[in-house]
Amino acid sequence: MEPWAEELRDLEVRDLRRHPRLVEGATDPRVRVDGRLLVNLASNGYLGLAGDPRVRRAAVDAVHRYGTGAGSSRLIAGSLPLHAQLEAAVARFKAAEDAVLFATGYMANLGVLTSLTGPGDVVFSDALNHASIVDGCRLSRAEVAVYRHRDLDHLENLLRRSRARRRLIVSDGVFSMDGDVAPLPGLLELADRHGALVLLDEAHATGVLGHRGRGSTEHFGLAPHPALVQVVTLSKALAAEGAVVTGPRTVVEVLRNRARPFIYSTAPAPAPCAAALAAIGVLEAEPWRVGRLRAAARRLRNDLAGLGLPVVGGEAAILGVVAGTPAAALRLAAALETHGAFAPAVRPPTVPAGTSRVRLAPMATHTDDDLDAAVAAFAAAAEELRREGIALGADGREEGRPCRASS
Ligand SMILES: *Cc1c(COP(=O)(O)O)cnc(C)c1O
Repeated sequence: MEPWAEELRDLEVRDLRRHPRLVEGATDPRVRVDGRLLVNLASNGYLGLAGDPRVRRAAVDAVHRYGTGAGSSRLIAGSLPLHAQLEAAVARFKAAEDAVLFATGYMANLGVLTSLTGPGDVVFSDALNHASIVDGCRLSRAEVAVYRHRDLDHLENLLRRSRARRRLIVSDGVFSMDGDVAPLPGLLELADRHGALVLLDEAHATGVLGHRGRGSTEHFGLAPHPALVQVVTLSKALAAEGAVVTGPRTVVEVLRNRARPFIYSTAPAPAPCAAALAAIGVLEAEPWRVGRLRAAARRLRNDLAGLGLPVVGGEAAILGVVAGTPAAALRLAAALETHGAFAPAVRPPTVPAGTSRVRLAPMATHTDDDLDAAVAAFAAAAEELRREGIALGADGREEGRPCRASS
């Protein structure tokens, strides 16, 4: 065990060891942690649908009708009507030609990147893309050109230099840690000009951006684009599990034939498929949830900035309060918990060194009282850290240290 024990000790001394907490009601606006009820700022269940009676009932009905497991890959055992219905619903939701379902967002990104690109191809990847994109890039064995975060000029320079026949630009729609929005119109324009595809990961945009929560394209008022492939994660705002990839018919057909996470993994179980379908129905019937969510994010951003805290994000629903070192982020998260709010410390390699932070996200179902309590917790926690001599904000001494699992 020694080499592995050593690895754990190394994480521990660098304040990078992670421990999942035991919680009750992880998808509710308030969550019970160690017996205390805290405002839950840790969940990506943005619309508060995981506990919605209609969504729950759909999942339960699906178990009664189809049982608990799908039994095999769809290419072996066939598709359930629920798989086809869910794909059709998300294709319609995204105004896309076709769609295919994967078991998780992580698997969808691996599947798309490894089937659309390979040796001799180039993937152009934003420097702050999600780890599942980074891993998909590596597995694809394509050349990976990382462009500076949201920097279209840098991206265009890299595109100009490449001669590869198959080129793919990949970006988070809303960045999972900084909470800012990808410049999609610019990405599509560059794709048109340079004959590339765009893969957009809509994990934190689905149910969040656009008046009806349809994501980045609705946010920017864009018409359906023939070179756009999207990963629509069902595990966050849609309160289920899985991800649907939408896009041109040819691309989706290649995925069904080439994507190993689709071919060699058992099809998603009936219950999460039914839950996601019901959640899309609720979102379509109750677009006010999106407005509530975004108003809550704006309010948190304003109030936290008003306290003098170094806040990032807030354009969509994700916010961060930058603490600097891993130790400072851990201390801030612990103080928040003391004062009634549950929000995780996020450290390298999830964020670049020197920018460890507390990440927080409101839910559409947070009440004004919940948000008041969250802001009060931040005020009290920040005061506590000030008294301890811990300064918040990016830590320049650590910045640039190669900690991030970059592509
Ligand atoms: C959460 C997340 C994923 C992974 O989705 P899962 O369904 O949880 O596997 C992919 N991309 C981004 C940007 C995410 O935040």
